[in-house]
Amino acid sequence: MEKRLILDTELLQITINRLVEELIENHTDFSDTVLIGLQPRGIYLANRIQKRLEERLGKSISIGYLDTTFYRDDFRRRETPIQANATKVPFLIEDKKVILIDDVLFTGRTVRAALDAMIAFGRPRLVELLTFIDRKYTRDLPIQPDYVGKRVNTLKTQRVLVEWMDQGAESDKIWLVT
Ligand code: 5GP
Ligand code: MG
Repeated sequence: MEKRLILDTELLQITINRLVEELIENHTDFSDTVLIGLQPRGIYLANRIQKRLEERLGKSISIGYLDTTFYRDDFRRRETPIQANATKVPFLIEDKKVILIDDVLFTGRTVRAALDAMIAFGRPRLVELLTFIDRKYTRDLPIQPDYVGKRVNTLKTQRVLVEWMDQGAESDKIWLVT
């Protein structure tokens, strides 16, 4: 196993700050916009984005967490038992602008499932996708991100390792594991 650092702690923070500026550029004061982090790993990034947005805008920003397990098209095909995570969307998304947030975009199947799962909470006016790492050339579906932390050219056999301090890591770092 070979581990190559793609984003160190400092660059990772700079990237989060830049993504937040891009969000503010498009959503101004976030009066009609909500954040939805995808379980399980997108929530750490979503929380960080929320925190930075709140610092920048000086107001609270709505955030929800969405679990896509039961909406996946491969749900019934898995051999290992599935573990579902908590969906917690404490607001209606009816007519809202929704920013879906996940750590890594790979085939696009999770995001497709998220679009389905979201419908239970209303009909959004607009849905955008923010991903920290866009694994290029690996999509199975026509799904592309609107905001990208970093594009990384990966082989299907490689894996992006995302470490967050909030998750118990000693520092925030992103690696490519071969
Ligand atoms: P997709 O459904 O697009 O194939 O995969 C995206 C989902 O699987 C995301 O929720 C992401 O957390 C996870 N994922 C896919 N590939 C990777 C990877 O290389 N590293 C990490 N950390 N997560 C991945
Ligand atoms: Mg995930």
